[in-house]
Amino acid sequence: MKLLHVEQALKQYFGYDSFRPGQKEIVEAVLEQQDMLVLMPTGGGKSLTYQLPALLLPGLTIVVSPLIALMQDQVSRLQANGIEATFVNSSLPYEECARRERAAINGKVKLLYVAPERLLKPSFLALLEHINKTNGLALLAVDEAHCVSEWGHDFRPEYRQIGTLRDRFPQLPILALTATATERVRQDILDQLKLRQPTVYLASFNRPNLSYEVRSKHKGSYAELVQILRQKPGESIIIYCLSRSGVEKLSTDLNDDGIPNLPYHAGLSAKVRSEHQERFIRDDVPVLVATIAFGMGIAKPDVRAVIHYDLPKNLEGYYQESGRAGRDGEPAECILFFSYSDRMRTEYFIAQKENEQQQAIALKQLQQVIKYSESSQCRRRLLLGYFSEDFLEENCGNCDNCVQPLETEDRTEDARKFLTCVYQTRERFGFTHIIDILRGANTQKIRDYRHNQLTTYGCGKQYSRDEWGTIAHTLLQQGFLTEHHDGYPTYHLNANAVKLLKGQAEFRLKVTTRPAHGQVATA
Ligand code: ADP
Ligand code: ZN
Repeated sequence: MKLLHVEQALKQYFGYDSFRPGQKEIVEAVLEQQDMLVLMPTGGGKSLTYQLPALLLPGLTIVVSPLIALMQDQVSRLQANGIEATFVNSSLPYEECARRERAAINGKVKLLYVAPERLLKPSFLALLEHINKTNGLALLAVDEAHCVSEWGHDFRPEYRQIGTLRDRFPQLPILALTATATERVRQDILDQLKLRQPTVYLASFNRPNLSYEVRSKHKGSYAELVQILRQKPGESIIIYCLSRSGVEKLSTDLNDDGIPNLPYHAGLSAKVRSEHQERFIRDDVPVLVATIAFGMGIAKPDVRAVIHYDLPKNLEGYYQESGRAGRDGEPAECILFFSYSDRMRTEYFIAQKENEQQQAIALKQLQQVIKYSESSQCRRRLLLGYFSEDFLEENCGNCDNCVQPLETEDRTEDARKFLTCVYQTRERFGFTHIIDILRGANTQKIRDYRHNQLTTYGCGKQYSRDEWGTIAHTLLQQGFLTEHHDGYPTYHLNANAVKLLKGQAEFRLKVTTRPAHGQVATA
């Protein structure tokens, strides 16, 4: 009886013939007033799982949403379907908010969207108390629920307070939704929102139509990037850079090289930003060069590639940003350029952070990005593993490591030079200094410590800093060095290192460039 009921309502209100995977289960659980946490990738169809129950349950559904643009967009779509939905937020004049709130009191609204900071204002809480006693409250839906967590990619302190609604309205079921599914964030949401015996719905985060590739970043990378873009004339592509100045420079360079593109970052005025965004979405300009300020809530279905020209801050962000490719289900590429200088730059920025806990989180997250980038395993498995999802296929057939495994070469001799230098400097220095010694640099620090008198001084001139950086980090990754932290990292020889130095172990490194770039199949 009930199944028929929800399916009919789906058709009647939204015009859809069937549910997407998971939707029906979630809707039914919500109709039974269970608390729920829904983890589903962007585009999976989360909105419907509170919109449909809102129409079927008596009373008012409150939807907490962090972004004004998202709210407006959803509400106008619902209104276009003849559904009584509205929003209140700071973009509206006081009288308009008051008018909408009165409509809610009078039972003329089924879904009321609200920003978290407004939700907790005494006047708004009083409104909810009133409705609770009259027409009743049906459901509290918390969209983008990962915002409660410092481990999420978009922490918002106001989200922390939403849990107080549980105490005020103990009967009101809570439905939390997010496209972020890491273990930590999941736990934070359950705790902070005080969900009661919640049903957790976890959808697969795999995006089979996306191909994943990591390229090492070096002097020739810009030319590679231009080549990639030239191979896809007119296709929609997003290029992410870390900083505003990085965006500006790359955008200008690409324009000079005849690749039409627009920049997007928080340093541009709101007017310019929305104009650039519009022109990209309308296919006026194919390429958008952006910081991560661009993207949340933007649904352009036919983005054919997302290129990270700088290292992302965390894998979560990488998944979300690269996930903006191929929303239409057609093949699309996700390419990440990785270098050790980017890594060191990020570490430097992290060291500037005041808050120790945030520093620790950022470092942990950076390590995961590095692990993803350096690995010779299936990238899809690594990415899904980050969301605690097991990807069981041996070969995904659509990432660089599966399509074209990298060869390794014996670099034991270079590894010995590195370890010897660590030993000679008494395990008291970081990678930068060791690499300076190996490359025979003339720094103040080297002169002060007389490290130019070591036998290893200048013995590795033939390699770039990045090349040595790769060797150093791979030694660490493969367990030939141990990292210690007393304010700053130092590196120590361990039993494996001794074996390597004695000729009882071998050190192999991936050959850094693939024979033919751009060969990852996208079909
Ligand atoms: P999410 O919030 O998970 O990112 P949305 O709720 O925005 O996803 O839904 C993504 C798209 O899928 C929307 O365009 C929506 O209209 C569409 N959609 C959702 N459910 C269905 C369905 N059952 N049948 C067809 N289209 C659907
Ligand atoms: Zn793979």
